[in-house]
Amino acid sequence: MKKSKTIFWCSIVALSFLSFLLLSYRSFSYDASSKDLKRYLDALNIQFGRYGWKDLQPQKISWEYYRTTKNKNPLIFAHFGNSSKNCILFLGGVHGDELPSVYLMFKLAAYMEANPALLKDTCVVIAPLVNPDGFLSAIPTRTNSNGVDINRNFPTKDWAAQATRQWINKGRQARYFPGTKPASEQETLFQMALIKRYRPQKILSIHSPLNFFDYDGPSADLNSFEQWMEKICREANHPLKKFGFFPGSLGNYTGHEQNIFTLTLELPSSDPQNGTHYFQKFQPSIVKFINLPVAGSPPNIRMVHHARTAGAAR
Ligand SMILES: [Zn+2]
Repeated sequence: MKKSKTIFWCSIVALSFLSFLLLSYRSFSYDASSKDLKRYLDALNIQFGRYGWKDLQPQKISWEYYRTTKNKNPLIFAHFGNSSKNCILFLGGVHGDELPSVYLMFKLAAYMEANPALLKDTCVVIAPLVNPDGFLSAIPTRTNSNGVDINRNFPTKDWAAQATRQWINKGRQARYFPGTKPASEQETLFQMALIKRYRPQKILSIHSPLNFFDYDGPSADLNSFEQWMEKICREANHPLKKFGFFPGSLGNYTGHEQNIFTLTLELPSSDPQNGTHYFQKFQPSIVKFINLPVAGSPPNIRMVHHARTAGAAR
Protein backbone atom coordinates (compact mmCIF):
# COMPACT_ATOMS: atom_id res chain seq x y z
CA MET A 1 0.00 0.00 0.00
CA LYS A 2 2.75 2.38 1.04
CA LYS A 3 4.75 1.52 -2.10
CA SER A 4 1.87 2.26 -4.49
CA LYS A 5 1.31 5.60 -2.73
CA THR A 6 4.96 6.50 -3.31
CA ILE A 7 4.68 5.52 -6.97
CA PHE A 8 1.51 7.64 -7.24
CA TRP A 9 3.20 10.73 -5.81
CA CYS A 10 6.35 10.17 -7.86
CA SER A 11 4.22 10.03 -11.01
CA ILE A 12 2.45 13.27 -10.05
CA VAL A 13 5.80 15.03 -9.52
CA ALA A 14 7.18 13.65 -12.80
CA LEU A 15 4.05 14.68 -14.71
CA SER A 16 4.11 18.18 -13.23
CA PHE A 17 7.76 18.52 -14.21
CA LEU A 18 7.04 17.34 -17.76
CA SER A 19 4.11 19.76 -18.11
CA PHE A 20 6.34 22.56 -16.82
CA LEU A 21 8.98 21.70 -19.44
CA LEU A 22 6.37 21.53 -22.19
CA LEU A 23 4.81 24.86 -21.16
CA SER A 24 8.22 26.59 -20.96
CA TYR A 25 9.13 25.21 -24.37
CA ARG A 26 5.88 26.51 -25.81
CA SER A 27 6.35 29.96 -24.36
CA PHE A 28 9.97 30.26 -25.60
CA SER A 29 9.53 28.68 -29.00
CA TYR A 30 8.42 30.66 -31.97
CA ASP A 31 5.71 29.77 -34.38
CA ALA A 32 6.03 31.07 -37.94
CA SER A 33 2.31 30.69 -38.51
CA SER A 34 1.44 32.55 -35.32
CA LYS A 35 -1.64 34.74 -35.24
CA ASP A 36 0.48 37.70 -34.14
CA LEU A 37 2.73 37.40 -37.19
CA LYS A 38 -0.26 37.05 -39.50
CA ARG A 39 -1.97 40.07 -37.95
CA TYR A 40 1.25 42.07 -38.34
CA LEU A 41 1.74 41.09 -42.00
CA ASP A 42 -1.92 41.98 -42.69
CA ALA A 43 -1.36 45.41 -41.12
CA LEU A 44 1.77 45.87 -43.23
CA ASN A 45 -0.08 44.88 -46.42
CA ILE A 46 -2.74 47.52 -45.71
CA GLN A 47 -0.05 50.16 -45.19
CA PHE A 48 1.86 48.99 -48.31
CA GLY A 49 -1.41 49.34 -50.29
CA ARG A 50 -1.69 52.98 -49.20
CA TYR A 51 1.79 53.63 -50.59
CA GLY A 52 1.06 51.82 -53.86
CA TRP A 53 3.55 49.03 -53.07
CA LYS A 54 1.38 46.41 -54.75
CA ASP A 55 4.30 44.15 -55.71
CA LEU A 56 5.34 43.34 -52.12
CA GLN A 57 4.16 40.02 -50.68
CA PRO A 58 5.68 39.83 -47.20
CA GLN A 59 3.67 36.69 -46.35
CA LYS A 60 5.78 34.72 -48.85
CA ILE A 61 9.00 35.05 -46.84
CA SER A 62 9.90 32.79 -43.88
CA TRP A 63 10.26 35.41 -41.16
CA GLU A 64 11.55 34.72 -37.68
CA TYR A 65 10.92 36.80 -34.62
CA TYR A 66 11.67 36.52 -30.93
CA ARG A 67 10.82 40.01 -29.75
CA THR A 68 7.93 42.40 -30.05
CA THR A 69 7.73 46.16 -29.69
CA LYS A 70 5.81 48.15 -27.09
CA ASN A 71 2.79 48.07 -29.48
CA LYS A 72 3.17 44.27 -29.77
CA ASN A 73 4.49 44.31 -33.34
CA PRO A 74 6.89 41.41 -34.07
CA LEU A 75 10.48 42.42 -34.84
CA ILE A 76 10.95 40.21 -37.87
CA PHE A 77 14.01 39.11 -39.82
CA ALA A 78 14.84 36.47 -42.42
CA HIS A 79 18.12 34.80 -43.25
CA PHE A 80 19.18 33.46 -46.61
CA GLY A 81 22.11 31.33 -47.75
CA ASN A 82 24.76 29.69 -45.63
CA SER A 83 24.26 31.19 -42.20
CA SER A 84 27.50 29.87 -40.72
CA LYS A 85 29.80 32.38 -42.42
CA ASN A 86 30.34 35.65 -44.27
CA CYS A 87 27.20 37.30 -43.03
CA ILE A 88 25.87 40.62 -44.17
CA LEU A 89 23.12 42.31 -42.23
CA PHE A 90 20.56 44.62 -43.85
CA LEU A 91 18.48 47.02 -41.77
CA GLY A 92 15.48 49.02 -43.00
CA GLY A 93 12.93 51.29 -41.36
CA VAL A 94 15.10 52.12 -38.33
CA HIS A 95 13.38 55.47 -38.60
CA GLY A 96 9.68 54.73 -39.13
CA ASP A 97 9.03 57.74 -41.38
CA GLU A 98 11.78 56.88 -43.90
CA LEU A 99 9.30 54.98 -46.02
CA PRO A 100 11.18 53.83 -49.14
CA SER A 101 13.87 52.18 -46.95
CA VAL A 102 11.18 49.70 -45.88
CA TYR A 103 10.13 49.03 -49.48
CA LEU A 104 13.74 48.37 -50.50
CA MET A 105 14.27 45.81 -47.74
CA PHE A 106 11.07 43.82 -48.38
CA LYS A 107 11.91 43.92 -52.09
CA LEU A 108 15.45 42.70 -51.35
CA ALA A 109 14.10 39.79 -49.30
CA ALA A 110 11.97 38.70 -52.29
CA TYR A 111 14.99 39.14 -54.58
CA MET A 112 17.14 36.93 -52.31
CA GLU A 113 14.43 34.29 -52.27
CA ALA A 114 14.29 34.34 -56.10
CA ASN A 115 18.09 34.35 -56.65
CA PRO A 116 19.66 31.67 -54.45
CA ALA A 117 22.72 31.55 -56.77
CA LEU A 118 23.80 34.90 -55.27
CA LEU A 119 24.10 33.25 -51.88
CA LYS A 120 26.59 30.46 -52.54
CA ASP A 121 29.17 31.43 -49.93
CA THR A 122 27.27 34.16 -48.20
CA CYS A 123 24.73 34.63 -45.49
CA VAL A 124 22.28 37.46 -45.89
CA VAL A 125 20.15 38.56 -42.95
CA ILE A 126 17.40 41.09 -43.56
CA ALA A 127 15.52 42.98 -40.85
CA PRO A 128 13.25 44.99 -43.15
CA LEU A 129 11.46 47.09 -40.55
CA VAL A 130 13.30 47.76 -37.29
CA ASN A 131 10.79 50.36 -36.07
CA PRO A 132 7.30 49.05 -36.95
CA ASP A 133 5.58 51.18 -34.28
CA GLY A 134 6.88 54.34 -35.98
CA PHE A 135 6.04 53.03 -39.46
CA LEU A 136 2.49 51.95 -38.55
CA SER A 137 1.47 55.00 -36.53
CA ALA A 138 -1.25 57.21 -38.06
CA ILE A 139 1.42 59.72 -39.08
CA PRO A 140 4.67 57.72 -39.39
CA THR A 141 7.35 58.84 -36.95
CA ARG A 142 11.13 58.73 -36.86
CA THR A 143 11.13 57.59 -33.21
CA ASN A 144 9.58 54.46 -31.69
CA SER A 145 6.44 54.47 -29.54
CA ASN A 146 8.49 55.54 -26.49
CA GLY A 147 9.67 58.59 -28.45
CA VAL A 148 13.24 57.27 -28.69
CA ASP A 149 15.51 57.65 -31.74
CA ILE A 150 16.73 54.06 -32.19
CA ASN A 151 19.84 55.31 -33.99
CA ARG A 152 20.96 57.17 -30.84
CA ASN A 153 20.21 54.37 -28.36
CA PHE A 154 23.06 51.85 -28.96
CA PRO A 155 25.29 51.34 -25.89
CA THR A 156 28.38 53.03 -27.35
CA LYS A 157 31.30 53.88 -25.08
CA ASP A 158 30.54 57.61 -25.34
CA TRP A 159 26.80 57.26 -24.62
CA ALA A 160 26.85 58.10 -20.89
CA ALA A 161 29.10 61.14 -21.32
CA GLN A 162 27.77 62.48 -24.64
CA ALA A 163 24.32 61.28 -25.78
CA THR A 164 22.10 63.36 -23.50
CA ARG A 165 24.52 66.30 -23.50
CA GLN A 166 24.64 66.51 -27.31
CA TRP A 167 20.86 66.17 -27.50
CA ILE A 168 20.40 69.08 -25.07
CA ASN A 169 23.07 71.20 -26.82
CA LYS A 170 21.35 70.68 -30.17
CA GLY A 171 18.05 72.04 -28.84
CA ARG A 172 16.32 68.98 -27.34
CA GLN A 173 14.61 68.01 -30.58
CA ALA A 174 12.18 65.18 -29.84
CA ARG A 175 13.12 63.47 -33.13
CA TYR A 176 16.64 62.75 -31.84
CA PHE A 177 15.89 61.79 -28.22
CA PRO A 178 18.46 59.09 -27.31
CA GLY A 179 16.41 57.59 -24.46
CA THR A 180 17.02 57.82 -20.74
CA LYS A 181 19.63 55.06 -20.85
CA PRO A 182 21.49 53.14 -23.59
CA ALA A 183 19.94 49.98 -25.09
CA SER A 184 16.66 50.79 -23.33
CA GLU A 185 14.53 49.94 -26.37
CA GLN A 186 13.40 46.59 -27.79
CA GLU A 187 14.30 47.81 -31.30
CA THR A 188 17.91 48.47 -30.18
CA LEU A 189 18.14 45.11 -28.37
CA PHE A 190 16.78 43.43 -31.49
CA GLN A 191 19.60 44.79 -33.67
CA MET A 192 22.20 43.98 -30.99
CA ALA A 193 20.91 40.38 -30.82
CA LEU A 194 21.18 40.00 -34.62
CA ILE A 195 24.77 41.32 -34.52
CA LYS A 196 25.66 38.96 -31.68
CA ARG A 197 24.03 35.95 -33.33
CA TYR A 198 25.29 36.36 -36.91
CA ARG A 199 28.55 38.28 -36.27
CA PRO A 200 28.19 40.08 -39.63
CA GLN A 201 31.30 41.29 -41.44
CA LYS A 202 29.24 43.89 -43.26
CA ILE A 203 26.12 45.89 -42.46
CA LEU A 204 23.99 48.03 -44.75
CA SER A 205 21.47 50.30 -43.08
CA ILE A 206 19.05 52.23 -45.27
CA HIS A 207 17.77 55.69 -44.41
CA SER A 208 16.37 58.78 -46.15
CA PRO A 209 16.29 61.61 -47.31
CA LEU A 210 19.87 62.93 -46.95
CA ASN A 211 21.02 61.59 -50.34
CA PHE A 212 24.46 60.03 -49.87
CA PHE A 213 26.45 56.93 -49.06
CA ASP A 214 28.37 57.01 -45.77
CA TYR A 215 30.50 54.33 -44.14
CA ASP A 216 32.39 53.40 -41.01
CA GLY A 217 34.67 50.42 -40.65
CA PRO A 218 37.97 48.91 -39.57
CA SER A 219 40.37 51.85 -39.30
CA ALA A 220 43.35 49.75 -40.52
CA ASP A 221 41.64 49.12 -43.83
CA LEU A 222 39.48 52.19 -44.19
CA ASN A 223 41.48 53.51 -47.18
CA SER A 224 40.80 50.41 -49.29
CA PHE A 225 37.15 50.47 -48.32
CA GLU A 226 37.05 54.17 -49.16
CA GLN A 227 38.46 53.51 -52.65
CA TRP A 228 35.94 50.73 -53.16
CA MET A 229 33.13 53.05 -51.98
CA GLU A 230 34.24 55.81 -54.36
CA LYS A 231 33.92 53.37 -57.26
CA ILE A 232 30.46 52.21 -56.10
CA CYS A 233 29.32 55.83 -55.78
CA ARG A 234 30.51 56.71 -59.29
CA GLU A 235 28.72 53.69 -60.73
CA ALA A 236 25.49 54.40 -58.82
CA ASN A 237 25.76 58.15 -59.47
CA HIS A 238 25.13 58.76 -55.76
CA PRO A 239 27.30 61.10 -53.65
CA LEU A 240 29.73 59.87 -50.99
CA LYS A 241 29.82 61.88 -47.80
CA LYS A 242 31.65 61.31 -44.55
CA PHE A 243 28.79 62.16 -42.24
CA GLY A 244 30.50 60.87 -39.08
CA PHE A 245 28.77 59.11 -36.25
CA PHE A 246 26.94 60.02 -33.07
CA PRO A 247 26.76 58.77 -29.49
CA GLY A 248 24.48 55.73 -29.68
CA SER A 249 24.44 55.47 -33.48
CA LEU A 250 24.88 52.23 -35.45
CA GLY A 251 28.00 53.50 -37.29
CA ASN A 252 29.61 54.20 -33.92
CA TYR A 253 28.54 50.89 -32.34
CA THR A 254 29.40 48.52 -35.22
CA GLY A 255 31.77 50.44 -37.55
CA HIS A 256 33.82 52.41 -35.04
CA GLU A 257 33.75 50.12 -31.99
CA GLN A 258 33.47 46.63 -33.55
CA ASN A 259 35.34 47.11 -36.84
CA ILE A 260 32.40 45.90 -38.92
CA PHE A 261 32.18 47.40 -42.43
CA THR A 262 29.08 49.52 -41.89
CA LEU A 263 27.52 51.27 -44.84
CA THR A 264 24.65 53.74 -44.70
CA LEU A 265 22.58 54.38 -47.79
CA GLU A 266 20.67 57.65 -47.47
CA LEU A 267 18.03 57.71 -50.20
CA PRO A 268 17.28 61.04 -51.92
CA SER A 269 13.76 61.37 -50.49
CA SER A 270 11.29 59.77 -48.07
CA ASP A 271 8.52 59.72 -50.71
CA PRO A 272 7.07 56.19 -50.80
CA GLN A 273 6.26 56.58 -54.53
CA ASN A 274 9.99 56.38 -55.27
CA GLY A 275 10.42 52.87 -53.83
CA THR A 276 10.50 51.03 -57.19
CA HIS A 277 12.85 53.55 -58.77
CA TYR A 278 15.24 53.40 -55.79
CA PHE A 279 15.31 49.60 -55.83
CA GLN A 280 16.26 49.65 -59.52
CA LYS A 281 18.87 52.34 -58.93
CA PHE A 282 20.58 50.76 -55.92
CA GLN A 283 20.14 47.03 -56.50
CA PRO A 284 23.49 46.74 -58.38
CA SER A 285 25.38 48.49 -55.52
CA ILE A 286 23.66 46.24 -52.98
CA VAL A 287 24.70 43.09 -54.87
CA LYS A 288 28.28 44.44 -55.13
CA PHE A 289 28.34 45.04 -51.37
CA ILE A 290 27.12 41.47 -50.81
CA ASN A 291 29.95 40.22 -53.07
CA LEU A 292 32.67 42.48 -51.60
CA PRO A 293 35.22 39.94 -50.32
CA VAL A 294 35.97 40.35 -46.63
CA ALA A 295 37.86 37.87 -44.45
CA GLY A 296 37.89 37.17 -40.71
CA SER A 297 35.29 37.82 -38.08
CA PRO A 298 34.77 41.02 -36.12
CA PRO A 299 36.72 42.80 -34.75
CA ASN A 300 39.50 41.30 -36.90
CA ILE A 301 38.14 41.66 -40.41
CA ARG A 302 39.74 42.97 -43.58
CA MET A 303 39.02 43.39 -47.25
CA VAL A 304 40.42 40.75 -49.60
CA HIS A 305 42.24 42.40 -52.49
CA HIS A 306 41.53 40.28 -55.55
CA ALA A 307 41.94 43.32 -57.81
CA ARG A 308 45.60 43.80 -56.79
CA THR A 309 46.49 40.20 -57.70
CA ALA A 310 44.77 40.56 -61.08
CA GLY A 311 46.66 43.80 -61.72
CA ALA A 312 50.05 42.22 -60.91
CA ALA A 313 49.43 39.39 -63.37
CA ARG A 314 48.96 41.75 -66.30
ZN1 LIG B 1 17.23 57.76 -40.72
